[in-house]
Order: sequence, then structure tokens, then C-alpha cells
Amino acid sequence: MGSLRRRVFTAIAIVLVFSINCVAYAESNHLEKAKGVILMIGDGMGINQVKSAGAYAQRILGKDLAINTIATSGLTTTHAANSKVTDSAAAATALYSGHKTNTGQLNILPDGRQAFNVAVAAKRAGLSVGVVSTTRLTDATPAAIYSSSARRDCEAYIAGQLPEFSPDVVLGGGGAYFIPSSQKGSKRTDQKDIIELMKAKGYGFVENGSDLKALNPETVDKLFGLLSKSNMAYILDRQGSKSLSDQPSLADMTKIALSIVGKNPKGFFIMIEGGRIDHACHTHDLKTMIVETIDFDAAVGVALNYQKAHPDVLVIVTADHETGGLTPQIEGTEFSIDPVPLQTIRRSLAYIEHKIKTNPEQQDAILKSAGLKLTEEEAELLRNSQTKAAKDKPSGNGDRAKRKFAKSATLDALSIITSKRAKVEWTTFGHTEQPVMTKAVGPGEKLFSGSYDNTDIAKKIAELLNLSLPSPALETDQTSVEPKATGAAPCP
Ligand SMILES: [Zn+2]
Repeated sequence: MGSLRRRVFTAIAIVLVFSINCVAYAESNHLEKAKGVILMIGDGMGINQVKSAGAYAQRILGKDLAINTIATSGLTTTHAANSKVTDSAAAATALYSGHKTNTGQLNILPDGRQAFNVAVAAKRAGLSVGVVSTTRLTDATPAAIYSSSARRDCEAYIAGQLPEFSPDVVLGGGGAYFIPSSQKGSKRTDQKDIIELMKAKGYGFVENGSDLKALNPETVDKLFGLLSKSNMAYILDRQGSKSLSDQPSLADMTKIALSIVGKNPKGFFIMIEGGRIDHACHTHDLKTMIVETIDFDAAVGVALNYQKAHPDVLVIVTADHETGGLTPQIEGTEFSIDPVPLQTIRRSLAYIEHKIKTNPEQQDAILKSAGLKLTEEEAELLRNSQTKAAKDKPSGNGDRAKRKFAKSATLDALSIITSKRAKVEWTTFGHTEQPVMTKAVGPGEKLFSGSYDNTDIAKKIAELLNLSLPSPALETDQTSVEPKATGAAPCP
């Protein structure tokens, strides 16, 4: 190489190295900002839950999960302040506010102070806020957006905080907590009519999928939807049911919610939860878990399409914790989940169990119509566990305890049968401390690679949205826009 060419080459190399350093410098200083953040949470969706749903999607449906198309991914620790194994309340508090708290507590820290989250900061800065879930809106993951309570189970009290906070879009289940006690099916003890309070604040109100689809997002700025009295039904159990088939998919809810919050020129923060993945895992119901995860994944697909059209928006997909300790069986060197035997199952195990409980003599027909025709060996397993439960029934604990005991015998046997067919095992009926997978697409996505804690997610979101998270404080220090702290049991 001649000396001139060598000097030109060296100069180019220096410029190249310098510009790569500049990019690295910009990234390390988090100079990228997002106009909107879509935080998507699969409740209880551990790595093996995604793996199982991915195997089902690929082998049975012939497609990939949208989640698996996201390149940037990291591992997130989930422990609570008082326990290695978290619950949704402590996890949601961490994910939105950046503070660890005890299990069962929503935005109330172990020392009694109230934590303020990115939704509060976003509201203060004039951004739109949305909350969308397939569970009751008063359940921990959605509730931690707009309320604070020392006890997550004070759901009527939590519901009462919704009009105070007023997220711009609120879609989910749990209608029973929002209607006065005089109305049928109410779970309130007072006459508060929260639907009326929300309507008086200018909210459009929807109760089913048809209403939601008919809505013109251009003409609606505030939307409140109660799509079920309790949790929204499992996708599997909606089929063929007159009362349940008009519950919208999470994807449809996501589409409408994004088109409303996305109108705010100042930006938005929205949380979208696939909340029933966790419930299916608690009962070791693999097929239902997979279908719920695929429903959640379709909503992730909607968010990713939205992000493509709005590159200044960041999509984050994570989980609050893993549920069930789901693990593939290992046969020799094979580490595999076999989704094929699950294909025919058309109902959740909880639905099948409920049907059998009400019509025990119809058991075979119920199983057959649910697509779960048992082999002789499986039928024997079910029979044995039911007989054993009947024989071992606890004495002196009353009918309720007996029923509960018998109920879990059928459900347990069905979950063992279906899990065995698909070659998976479960290690607990509760949550585990396994780290969860976090994925991200959009401005600042690189902040979400590597290993970090769930509290870091709130901090990263705040930074990317240019928000400062208010310091935790006792309720008297705060203005009326935030929910009030309770700091004490019993329910206020
Ligand atoms: Zn759970």
C-alpha cells in the first residue's frame, strides 16, 4: 500500500471508529426519546410458556409468534421486597413505579409511603394513559396503573379510585365492582355507581365486542369498557356461547385503545395485559395457557404494526412473573414440548371440570365433546383420583371443604393427563422466581437487552418518555390527581 493510500485508509478508519463511538455514546446516554410507550404484560408468561405457545403456533397453526420476531431481548428479575417469589401486585408496582414492595400491595411501599408510577408522571405531563386487560380491571396488574392499596383484594375500594385517576382508555373485565350494590351481580357494599361517574366525566362506555367495533376512535377521546362481570372468559370457552362470544379479542381492544391514546400530540403510555395466561398456569391447563398466550401474541402483533407506522413509539413485551414452574420433560437428549396431542381440545379444563361436577353421569360425553377423548389408561387415572378423593374426603370440615377437595381431584387428573400428552411438567401451583423475558422494539430498545430488574423497566420507560418519577410520599404531600394511600388493613 502506498503512503498516501495508507494515510487515506487510516483517516477513514479513524472517522469510522469515531462515528461508531458516537453512536455508542448516544445510546449509553439514552439520548433517544419515545413519544409513546406500549407496555405489554403476559401475566405468568415465563420463557417456557412462550416456548410452548410458539411450538403450538408453528406446528399446528403454521405461523410464528409475533413475540419471537422481536430481536432485542433481555432477562428480567422479578422478586418482591419481602419474597423471592413475587405476585402480580408487587411486580406491577415495580414495573410501573421502579420500587420494590411486598406481595399483595399496590403502590404502597413496605414503609407505608405511596409510590408514584409512570402513569401518574405521564398524566401530569399531559400524555394520554391507557389500561387494557383481559382480567378484572380491579385485579393487580391493571389496578396498579390507576390505584394504590395496601391490600390488592380490596377491589371495590380499588374500583372507586378509577374516576379519580381517569386514564383516557380503560378496557377490561370486572364489571361487578363498578355497579352499585342494589344492582344484580354487584360486588360493592355501597351505592357508588362508577359507570355513571365515568360517563359524567365524558367517557364513552362499551360493554361488548360489537359496541367496541362500531366505535369511531376519531370521535372518542375517553373510553371506558367493562366487557365482563368478572374476568373475561378464556378464549376457548367463548366458542358457541351466546353470552360470551361477543367478548372482544385482546387484539381488537388493543387496536381501538391505540387509535385513541395515539391521538395525543404530547404522546402516551399504555399498559396492555394478557391476564389469564396466569390463571391457566395455576390450574396446569396447558392448552388454555397456549391459547391465551396466542391471543396475547395477536395483540403484540397489533402493537408491532402500530410501531411500524409510528416509529417514534416503543413497544415493550414482558411478564410480571412465571406461574406453575412449567418445564418440558426430558427424554434422552430430547428437550421437547409436543403440541400435537393438544390440538383437539376445545375447552378449558376448568370448564370441563365444572360441567362434570354438575352432571357427573355425563362425564364421558362431556369429555368427548370437549375434544378430550381419554385412552383406557387415562380414564383409569381419572377414575382412581376421583375415587381416592371421595374416599379420603376430609371429615368434619363441612360440605364446602368436601366439594373443594373433589373438584380439584378431577381438575388435577385432567391436567396431569393433558400435560403428560404434551410432554411437560409443572413444579408448583403458585408462581416461581424464574427471571422472565423482556423484548423491545422502537426508540431506546437497546436499553432492554442484557439483564436487569423489573424496577429498571419503570426507570427506562420514564427516561425514554422524558418523565421524572415523583418520589414516594405520604398521601398528604400529593395533589388530588393521584389515588390516596391507605397504608393499613382492613379495606377502607
Ligand atoms: Zn398468579
